Amino acid sequence: MNSPVNNTALSSRNNARLELDGLRRSFGAYNALDGIDLAIEPGEFIALLGPSGCGKSTALNCIAGLLGLSGGEIRLGGNRIDQLEPEKRGFGMVFQSYALFPHMSVRKNVGFGLAMQGIKGAEADKRINDALALVRLESQAEKLPGQLSGGQQQRVAIARAVVIRPPIVLMDEPLSNLDAKLRLEMRAEIRGIHDQIGSTTIYVTHDQDEALSLADRIVVMSQGHIQQIGSPQDLYQRPVNLNVADFMGFRTRIAGRVVSVSGDEAEIEAAGARLTGTMRTPLKVGDAAVLSVRPEDLVATSDGEGVPATVASMEYRGRAFFGMATAKDGSELYFRADDVLPRGASTSLQPVSGRALVFKGAAE
Ligand code: ATP
Repeated sequence: MNSPVNNTALSSRNNARLELDGLRRSFGAYNALDGIDLAIEPGEFIALLGPSGCGKSTALNCIAGLLGLSGGEIRLGGNRIDQLEPEKRGFGMVFQSYALFPHMSVRKNVGFGLAMQGIKGAEADKRINDALALVRLESQAEKLPGQLSGGQQQRVAIARAVVIRPPIVLMDEPLSNLDAKLRLEMRAEIRGIHDQIGSTTIYVTHDQDEALSLADRIVVMSQGHIQQIGSPQDLYQRPVNLNVADFMGFRTRIAGRVVSVSGDEAEIEAAGARLTGTMRTPLKVGDAAVLSVRPEDLVATSDGEGVPATVASMEYRGRAFFGMATAKDGSELYFRADDVLPRGASTSLQPVSGRALVFKGAAE
């Protein structure tokens, strides 16, 4: 965790721990959140990561107070806050859609939360100026949101969220509406702002790159449950199950049966080959298992070693060619090659030693 630079008037006024305890939220019979337990330390940057519909936004909205709970508690610094109105919680929020007031200048948008808190005059001016400087929009202060680019509008939304010195900033896919280049720039800016103001950030995304590059800890969610909590390195290298592995880029799954186990490695017979990977769940000979590997770690070989497969498509991505091939059992294998292979060509695909993972169970 980076330590905050406490030299700004926008420094967080609160350094309390946020605790989610058995959080539940249902919509009719559907449990969008089904028992979420999570403790977030002051100053942490937490990413909630998961596929569409897994409950990320619901969790964020429950923390913000925009949605009530069906069960469980939310505590800040040991005090229950889940009964409080959103304004009383005092969290900053940044949405995918910016949610700026179109008829108000940038300055007025940023100052809105301060006015609601009754902060006026010189103190308000100073805070607004600091917030605009933080997002490098000093020169745009008198413009209307519609006169700004998407990236600038999102920076106004961030300034508006942090100007109230919130203990916690909640961000819901804030970069989704921006183009790829701007997204990368804003990503670095968001982390920089977080480090400067020292508040806690909870950031919802379905983009693993964003979560990996921004967060101190990532919370991977699926169907209203937490699947894994860990540092980016932890999740990238040691996903606990196939769901998390999938989210961390282990795109290829090859189903087979364990034929030998040695130390933490299992050899499986699958798709006409014998393949070795690191066990992520305990396995014994005869168990059904799935080997999972990233495209960059499954390599086309010319020596016939590995899974025999037929090339379906290939594309050039700068340093290498990446492709999809089909194994005899119908598995789709995403792989890397040094040279282009024609569609329909026979090849053999071999995981790079030490890079494949093996989980118990059959592929879906
Ligand atoms: P996305 O990335 O698509 O925004 P998410 O992980 O943020 O997805 P949520 O928006 O939290 O997912 O939704 C979780 C589940 O709860 C979904 O199945 C959704 O359809 C359902 N849901 C969310 N809000 C409501 C609502 N107001 N009424 C009924 N169902 C809802």
